[in-house]
Amino acid sequence: MDIFFYNTLTKSKDKFQPIEGKEVKIYSCGPTVYKDATIGNMRTNLFQDVLRRVLKYNGYTLKHAMNITDVGHLVSDGDDGEDKMLKSAREENKTPIEIAKYYTELFFKDLEELNIETPEIVCKATDHIKDMLSYVQKLVENGYAYETSTAIYFDISKLDKYPILSPLNIEEQKAGARVDIDKEKRNPYDFALWIKAPKEHLMKWDSPWGLSYPGWHIECSAMGQKYLGEQFDIHTGGIDLIPTHHENEIAQSKGKCGKIPAKFWMHGEYLLINGGKMSKSLGNVYLIKDIKEKGYDPLVYRLFSFSSHYRNKLNFTWEAIEATSKSLERLKNSYQTHLAGKDEIQDKTLEELEIKFNEAINDDLNMPLAMSVVWEVAKQEVKSPKIAKLLEKFDTVLGLKITEQISKKQEEIPQEILELVEQRKQARENKDWEKSDELRDKIQEKGYIVKDTKAGIEIQKL
Ligand code: AMP
Ligand code: ZN
Repeated sequence: MDIFFYNTLTKSKDKFQPIEGKEVKIYSCGPTVYKDATIGNMRTNLFQDVLRRVLKYNGYTLKHAMNITDVGHLVSDGDDGEDKMLKSAREENKTPIEIAKYYTELFFKDLEELNIETPEIVCKATDHIKDMLSYVQKLVENGYAYETSTAIYFDISKLDKYPILSPLNIEEQKAGARVDIDKEKRNPYDFALWIKAPKEHLMKWDSPWGLSYPGWHIECSAMGQKYLGEQFDIHTGGIDLIPTHHENEIAQSKGKCGKIPAKFWMHGEYLLINGGKMSKSLGNVYLIKDIKEKGYDPLVYRLFSFSSHYRNKLNFTWEAIEATSKSLERLKNSYQTHLAGKDEIQDKTLEELEIKFNEAINDDLNMPLAMSVVWEVAKQEVKSPKIAKLLEKFDTVLGLKITEQISKKQEEIPQEILELVEQRKQARENKDWEKSDELRDKIQEKGYIVKDTKAGIEIQKL
């Protein structure tokens, strides 16, 4: 079945085909590891995860690279302000390395809890300083970059077209351009490739231009090319990256090798909170941790993210999370009911439903539509293990772990008990009934009772 993705580059839904064979090469702009990732950041990661899973469902293999930005991303997202890593290090009284390590670990924990697959390649900016430096040197050699007393800038006037992704009209923008910090810049939209470090700057490296550090955009160009080649299949990120970061990545790649680095550019829309922006000042910055603390399985948020197409805004409310929590429970219950069912269902009916699901996911990852097919399958009057199997197949894309038992209010059950329950589950799978009974008694001694119900395992406080 054909796959179509909306391509920000062509502004149309284009038929997708990998450049080479059955392997799809994807690059995703990863986190700047200077603070906790929010549920907004995670929406972007969920969209990228669905993309991965849909491609795999269609029989493709993946080479997916994601960077970790641990240097060069300035507070303004442009060329001014402090480095986000350094600001955070100063505020938390830690070294930038400690900050990066701490927030990188938290980020991957969130991914795991949301059942988001780790890309095949995870690459850290500070591990690729040499690659970035030689990229910048090549841009200078090719006549696309110039030195000022503060930085090495990319000269956008050397390009045939800039910008190419965004509707930004450069001439209009120039007219009302903000006052430039660096008067030596040739064009207001020239951006820093490499920045000369002031004495007190903590993160800096030797370079032909003295002690200095990379600009934010160069890392993705250098690492993307290193791991995926001069041109790969898909580049992803949040919608906010289009006018700055992604335009500049394209500019860099055109300057270095004359190519736009990816054929498809896919961007995820923003998550809103109660219809507005998520911001510290409004006190509505939520993390996956907050969802757990309210007693919800993080996968409830995953299911919630399917309620809007990735290119539309999604509005977060706690009421919606409560309703989605019930939906996830219902879906898991109907999976179990079908699994235990004895009715007959025609293969043709299932095939038709499967085609509908495939059409939805292959039409630019239309998850709201795909979910309506999932519910159509789950709510079949007849109860059959064949239906359960189809739901399991769908779950390779959904990633909701529908075969696993409901973990409502999971954090109220101590980790120790959860581990014993897991050991008992293993014992039962190995038909080791003696051990299973022994573990059940142990769980009971600790004040909990474990029950095997039609809907799966239930844990209750005595
Ligand atoms: P930040 O750490 O705020 O710079 O965000 C990192 C990336 O996460 C951004 O570049 C966006 O692509 C994405 N992101 C941030 N906030 C949201 C949001 N509310 N909804 C969706 N994606 C977001
Ligand atoms: Zn990037």
